[in-house]
Amino acid sequence: MKITIAKNAGFCFGVKRAYDLTCVNSKNCTDIYILGKLVHNDDVCEDLYKRGIKETKSIDNLEEGTIIFTAHGVGPGLYEKATNKGLKIIDTTCPKVMKAQRLAKNFAEKGFQVLLFGDKSHKEVKSIREWSNNKAKIISSLAEIKKIKLDPEKKYYLLSQTTQNVQEFQKIVDYLENKLKDFSYYNTICPSTGDRQKEIRKLARENDLVLVVGGRDSANSKRLFEIARELNKNTFFLENETEIPEKAVQKARSIAIAAGASTPEWVIEKILKKLEKIANK
Ligand code: SF4
Repeated sequence: MKITIAKNAGFCFGVKRAYDLTCVNSKNCTDIYILGKLVHNDDVCEDLYKRGIKETKSIDNLEEGTIIFTAHGVGPGLYEKATNKGLKIIDTTCPKVMKAQRLAKNFAEKGFQVLLFGDKSHKEVKSIREWSNNKAKIISSLAEIKKIKLDPEKKYYLLSQTTQNVQEFQKIVDYLENKLKDFSYYNTICPSTGDRQKEIRKLARENDLVLVVGGRDSANSKRLFEIARELNKNTFFLENETEIPEKAVQKARSIAIAAGASTPEWVIEKILKKLEKIANK
């Protein structure tokens, strides 16, 4: 059995930064809370709870202590609210998300209708929209933008959630360039996302079976799974080694392992060990 691990598997720069900042500060601060999950990965969250870091859904009930804003970012209202409450803020917003937030703010202020390609329910998308003073219109696909009535007299500016599908973004750009007189855009899809998507296309074509490792709520992991599944029906999504599809693995001669940006290395290592055990049975 040949096993190939994607070169881009595991923590991206932004998640590693958020994790490291959180771990370092857990030693220096008491009463430390994360607003929501640091990353969409239960193994990472468990590791942080063991370090004494608690999770909170809202800062409403916090009167003191430290609040960590996650790599997905938050809107301007939360910075203000936390500051007014006297909370210490540790901001782990990924610099690439911050860039999308700043662009949304600047272009909305300049009178552009900001269009944001992304998943409406995702934290990062909500935070970017809040920076546009809640004026950005969120679109999740080319099909959706085709249904929207566009005003040819208006100026439009397109941005993207950092973990979106690069090819779909390009299709939306092509469509809007044809439809609008005053249209500009900035591709805010993270290069790490693009690299992973490119690599998984190759791996899905070249291997009998693909394992995509990631948290169930991880947008970028789910996207990798969708891309691989389209090219190779023998693709499985798993959170950790307990979910390895043993029968399918036994039949495969070549296996590719890919992982989302929030998947820690230690989970990939456990999967690898278990695959080796299955191969030696
Ligand atoms: S995927 Fe890119 S944008 Fe998202 S946290 Fe990682 S480095 Fe930042």
